[in-house]
Amino acid sequence: MLFFRKKIVTMKLSYQAYTLQLENTFTLATSSRSTTPVMLVEIEHEGLIWYGEASMPPYLGESHTTVAKFLWWVDLTGFSDPSDIESIMNIIDSLAPGNTAAKSAIDIALHDLVGKIRGTSWHQHWWLSLETIPSTSYTIGMDTPKVIKQKVEAAQWFKLLKVKLWRDNDKEIIETIRSCTNLPLCVDCNQWRKDTQQAIDMSHWLAERGVVYIEQPMDKNQPEQIAILRGKSPLPIIADEAVQRLSDIAATVWVYDAINIKLMKCTGLHEAKKMITLAQSLGLKIMLWCMTETSCAIAAAAQLSPLVDWTDLDGNLLITNDPFVGTQLVNGKVLPSTDPGIWIHKI
Ligand code: MG
Repeated sequence: MLFFRKKIVTMKLSYQAYTLQLENTFTLATSSRSTTPVMLVEIEHEGLIWYGEASMPPYLGESHTTVAKFLWWVDLTGFSDPSDIESIMNIIDSLAPGNTAAKSAIDIALHDLVGKIRGTSWHQHWWLSLETIPSTSYTIGMDTPKVIKQKVEAAQWFKLLKVKLWRDNDKEIIETIRSCTNLPLCVDCNQWRKDTQQAIDMSHWLAERGVVYIEQPMDKNQPEQIAILRGKSPLPIIADEAVQRLSDIAATVWVYDAINIKLMKCTGLHEAKKMITLAQSLGLKIMLWCMTETSCAIAAAAQLSPLVDWTDLDGNLLITNDPFVGTQLVNGKVLPSTDPGIWIHKI
């Protein structure tokens, strides 16, 4: 296991490669995997340590190597005040056009640190009430009908289920789930559908079976077709692959009903908060999503959850070697801690 350390004025930045073990093999439209690489980041300040995390599912193009290389070049010697998160993150963001997960790891650790200094949790600092937090969805990974039934029955205590659709047996998958639960269901197509009329027909079929929204039903590079689908679909159409950062939002207004925000794609809490403000001002709904992550990044995202319409913060529930605690799962909702900072603790 590699461990790096460099000094940043009054702060020391450390990072450690770690591999998440998934409880079940996770299958997407283009790949399957049983592990996810993450980088665990620490900022040491005045004798205390604050945590951050970069999660790097392979399809996003980051890895232990790329994140370590980026973090090695991070130089914060011009900043003596960790509470100046905006300035620090602007400098970090300017170092390279990508590396959003690596940037997010620093952002999370800074928020944990600054919240502790300030003496409040971030949702309290933003005057957000835990009463408005939506239930998290729980992802049912693709498998045989028999195993899918077992997964669904084990997830009955959640309030919302999520499933990936992308093959010719989409209807079989939905019928399998419906044979054992009436829980609301959301679907993620990961851009798979190609034919607009088929997508329209499928949206009506899904609506009749209790599906509540469709995420990225078609290729993000087909905005005209997706807009047609949106106009004829009884279900909200959500942008995921089409939106990564703040600058992507304006182009989605005429195509989608909502956008999906993930800390690992948008460089962390500071930009996610701006994305929520902009998107809501444009009439878009918000989904707050995660990668396969530890409780570190989940706890950070949960601080924003009172602001959004849907959450999918189940990444830490899908792994077997979570080194952190940071949230509570209560009645199907992921609740952030009310203690100062983000309240990320190592087990
Ligand atoms: Mg998605």
